[in-house]
Amino acid sequence: MPFKLPELPYAYDALHPHIDKRTMTIHHTKHHNGYTNKLNAAIEGTDLAKKKIEDILASVSEQSAAVRNNGGGYYNHSLFWSVMSPEGGGEPKANSKLGKAMKETFESYDDFKAQFSAAAATRFGSGWAWLCVDAKGKLFVTSTPNQDNPLMDVADQKGTPILGLDVCEHAYFLKYQNKRPNYIAAFFEVINWDQVGKRYNKVMRALAK
Ligand code: MN
Repeated sequence: MPFKLPELPYAYDALHPHIDKRTMTIHHTKHHNGYTNKLNAAIEGTDLAKKKIEDILASVSEQSAAVRNNGGGYYNHSLFWSVMSPEGGGEPKANSKLGKAMKETFESYDDFKAQFSAAAATRFGSGWAWLCVDAKGKLFVTSTPNQDNPLMDVADQKGTPILGLDVCEHAYFLKYQNKRPNYIAAFFEVINWDQVGKRYNKVMRALAK
């Protein structure tokens, strides 16, 4: 199987009380595991089985709905777990590359928070909110429907995501029911900014080549 379900970098109850253990368990072992298995089944025996997930997503318009939905689901959740931490929250370090870039783009952390929260709150139905780096190295906030993401050639705004928030109901319904804004607010308490900063630096290094 080319793609494997990544382990969570913390325990299922580690993000409590912001994200509860039952949601985390079901989300990882059922939803993410399901996307991973279905992606593997969809690409089995095809040329895609040898490709990196980023490359599959970049030409996803040429692929089946199964590859689009499950490839997106596999990638998006892998990123999502990695950008959260029980030691998270706060703001990016002001003297870090990401901290400086965010200050240039958003003026203030609160301005970023407002933009990202609005993207997450106004995404109708299922989808994701993202902080991304575009091809020129500029940060931007966007959202995508269902399991799409900004790496996909079908995305309205293309870029490399460095922070993502799942706003599908399965990500928050057990604890927050219909109160998506409360879930969005809780997410900011667990963002792993060191990890987001590492992703930012990696994208910028790749763009500089
Ligand atoms: Mn999900």
